[in-house]
Amino acid sequence: MTLSTIPNRILHNGVSIPQLGFGVFKVDPATAETVVADAFEAGYRHIDTATIYGNEAGVGRALAASGLRRDDVFLTTKLWNDDQGADTVEDAFAASLDRLGVDAVDLYLIHWPCPARNRYVESWRVLHSIAESGRARAIGVSNFEIEHLERLHAETGVVPAVNQIELHPYFQRRELVTYCQERGIAIQAWGPLSQGKSDLLAEPTIVDAAAQLGKTPAQVVLRWHIEQGTIVFPKTVRPERARENIALFDFELTAEQHQAVTDLERNLRLGSASTDVN
Ligand code: NAD
Repeated sequence: MTLSTIPNRILHNGVSIPQLGFGVFKVDPATAETVVADAFEAGYRHIDTATIYGNEAGVGRALAASGLRRDDVFLTTKLWNDDQGADTVEDAFAASLDRLGVDAVDLYLIHWPCPARNRYVESWRVLHSIAESGRARAIGVSNFEIEHLERLHAETGVVPAVNQIELHPYFQRRELVTYCQERGIAIQAWGPLSQGKSDLLAEPTIVDAAAQLGKTPAQVVLRWHIEQGTIVFPKTVRPERARENIALFDFELTAEQHQAVTDLERNLRLGSASTDVN
């Protein structure tokens, strides 16, 4: 492995996932194909999309046109809330495969638990049967709190491969992260750069570390995630930023720099809480 190679994480079922990927939340469906083609060009081999993003078809077109082998690209999509239910998940999943133009995804997630709908356990059973059929190489959840994970385990015994949650230096979710780590559930950070909704990248700790390392503030934050063992897929529609965000594997934070970023925790949630989404 050269220093610039993206490392893999091994999920609990043995499937490898590149620790760094490319997220396409809010990427316009009309430009998604170009944006993802640029990401492939920059070296990304892991794309995180979702039904609700409306851009699965663009992702699929970029994949088909890339000339890359299907098994060289790790592809994640997510079940939208309205499609939860024992009788609806199969059709929603089939429609995602169709839009993506693939026979299988690498990872399929329940996007939100939607506790008030009370359909996530029955939906999870369908995801399990999809995984058993080979049409998803791994299955997981997103925005699940400990109580939702506990219920999945108690009622189905099937442990998610990942939990994709809002996670950044201002919002580190330590109790939830520890709970997942102890059970072999890999953590994926959404909003790893805090979605541009905070002053994180202007934080003196981060700006100073970036200056010392000759890197950018975004690279310092993303490198911190990588060193935590978290799977990240920052989003950008600007090719130069896509190249910047992937250049994380030829440097390390010093122990002091890493700790200083960890010390920025302020329990600051910037997105929705799982109880607010239904
Ligand atoms: P992010 O933290 O990746 O922030 C993206 C924003 O950061 C960009 O729009 C841009 O403004 C800025 N940015 C990106 N690169 C930069 C750079 N090098 N320098 C300066 N600014 C930069 O937030 P996100 O897109 O919300 O999260 C990443 C991915 O996580 C999404 O694209 C999506 O795939 C996933 N996601 C999942 C959920 C979920 O509920 N499961 C929710 C949100 C996002």
